[in-house]
Amino acid sequence: MKTTEKNYRLFFNQSCALCSTFPATETGLCEGCHTDLPWLVAACRCCAEPLTSHQDLLCPNCVKDPPPFDRTHAAFRYSFPINQIIPAVKYHRRPAMLGWLSRSLAQLMRDRLENDIPEALIPVPMHPWRSFRRGFNQAELIAAILGQELGIPVIEKGISRKAGGAHQAELNRQERLANLQHSFQVRRTLPASVAIVDDVMTTGATARELARTLREHGAVHIQIWALARTPS
Ligand SMILES: [Zn+2]
Ligand SMILES: [Zn+2]
Repeated sequence: MKTTEKNYRLFFNQSCALCSTFPATETGLCEGCHTDLPWLVAACRCCAEPLTSHQDLLCPNCVKDPPPFDRTHAAFRYSFPINQIIPAVKYHRRPAMLGWLSRSLAQLMRDRLENDIPEALIPVPMHPWRSFRRGFNQAELIAAILGQELGIPVIEKGISRKAGGAHQAELNRQERLANLQHSFQVRRTLPASVAIVDDVMTTGATARELARTLREHGAVHIQIWALARTPS
């Protein structure tokens, strides 16, 4: 047994976070639940839009209008049970679920990253009043776990989201893009290679706008790491 696995068995809940009947592995889930999750297998190399075959490397959207980031890694499709767990984290304030979700993504990234390791992780900032109301920013919690698991520093200060603007969840793709224009503020220089961390990537509008802003402040090679991806 690996040391990390041993530590998890010692310090974390010993039973699976989803079914509580079987012992958890190092992600916090039992092997059965881990296998049954909707892992995102075939996806666009650039934006992780779910694709029907492994053959297409890019989705039509990325071919037509290339995003200002290089690559997106998402662990899951945003379908059952992920589409019930992530809203529960956010709207019913159950951040504990982010533990096994983030460790699953970390495990995947450990397998995928070779020389492509970003110098820093950047959680998508939240409007200050929204994070105040919720009590946490889920992207920050995910980034903290990923950073710890993978040994990558997390940029916690100097990047913010301006208050105002409608809630993205209530808007369509066009409205989202318009709503997001100039909505992020960066008050520091950035390393050349960074990964933006978020819980769910929906249309990719937030990732595009944040990546565009990061580029103006020194980021050159930008990846997106998300727990889940919805088809846009
Ligand atoms: Zn289980
Ligand atoms: Zn794409």
